Amino acid sequence: MYPGDSRKNWYRGQGEWGAVAASDWGDWRWQMRNRITDLDELESRLELTEEEREGCLLIRNKLAMAITPYFFNLIDKEAPECPIRRQVIPRVDELITHPEELLDPVGEEDSMAVEGLVHRYPDRCLFLVTNVCAAYCRYCTRSRMVSNAQGYDFHPNFENALKYIEEHTEIRDVLLSGGDPLLLSDKKLDYLLGRLRQIEHVEFIRIGSRIPVFMPQRITPELQEVFLRHGPIWMSIHVNHPRECTEELYEATKRLTMAGVPLGNQSVLLKGINDDVDTMTSLVHRLLMMRVRPYYLYQTDLITGTRHFRTDVRKGIEIVKGLRGHSSGYSVPQFVIDAPGGGGKIPLNPEYVKEITDTEIVMRNFEGMEYRYPLTPEGLVEYQQNGVSHAAGILV
Ligand SMILES: *Cc1c(COP(=O)(O)O)cnc(C)c1O
Repeated sequence: MYPGDSRKNWYRGQGEWGAVAASDWGDWRWQMRNRITDLDELESRLELTEEEREGCLLIRNKLAMAITPYFFNLIDKEAPECPIRRQVIPRVDELITHPEELLDPVGEEDSMAVEGLVHRYPDRCLFLVTNVCAAYCRYCTRSRMVSNAQGYDFHPNFENALKYIEEHTEIRDVLLSGGDPLLLSDKKLDYLLGRLRQIEHVEFIRIGSRIPVFMPQRITPELQEVFLRHGPIWMSIHVNHPRECTEELYEATKRLTMAGVPLGNQSVLLKGINDDVDTMTSLVHRLLMMRVRPYYLYQTDLITGTRHFRTDVRKGIEIVKGLRGHSSGYSVPQFVIDAPGGGGKIPLNPEYVKEITDTEIVMRNFEGMEYRYPLTPEGLVEYQQNGVSHAAGILV
């Protein structure tokens, strides 16, 4: 399906757009100002399907539409099912809420310690610093609050959240998210990271951001300075499909790592977009080429209006099974379900253990071959492997 993952085949975001100077195109503020946010503008650039047109018209009170020119240019205009297009252009299906779906699918509201701060795990917290993004993913877990389409009235108070973190000495890991933290100005980010760095028990600071993917131009020398000043700052980016791995993203991830930022990736398993082994293999190979370690693969949360994106849970297991052993160990993400009702992330793994007996563990490798290993260091006279007896220890 993919003609190899050589960088020769990677896209460049600056395709056809109209008259724009390279200096504007490369300026993230220009990208923000020129985002596509309404139907007329979108239709002037792309022939929409009826489902999409209706989606754009009706979606206003649910989750705003916004697409940066850079990301828009990655769309294959001839393909209604283009994986880029489906991630950011609303469809009328989003207005249908199915019985299993929830507004707050992973139960964040119940774990909010103070506004904007979710403290669910013992040693770490999620700090929501803004409710805006450069572009809006149509399957957003926080669609209840981001883009402010539903009147959530989100007013994060940095000082209250910082005070909570200061007072809770068990918090050693702070994850900044939102919305997208990289939409804060350099000055605000500098302040926030500086304050967090001053808290002695905070050992680990990370940012969840899709800005490198939607708007790689944001990774400026000034932002590099901020990361260098307060580092190490870790970052999880969000790439779902190999087509998103462009030359521009390559350059942005290079600038981030040069600023001392280790990079991970979180993908969401999306039906018809990346729910097959070939697409995921291509994606994770490209991520490694960009210095990005695949971290999580998420089963899509039960967010209202997203049934058309959700796929069979077994697909995710099949995908990680198809990666493990067949591809670099570094390329295999952990597949998880963020449990409805606030259970947190639960790992789902292919089954490699066939049996545990009194004396040994019976396993299957990635090719389905069976192997055995003594269960404990003691208490075993011999064990069998592939029909051959091995002395394994002295029975005491
Ligand atoms: C995902 C998440 C974290 C971070 O979890 P890790 O498994 O450490 O990456 C922390 N808090 C909340 C509420 C989260 O949803």
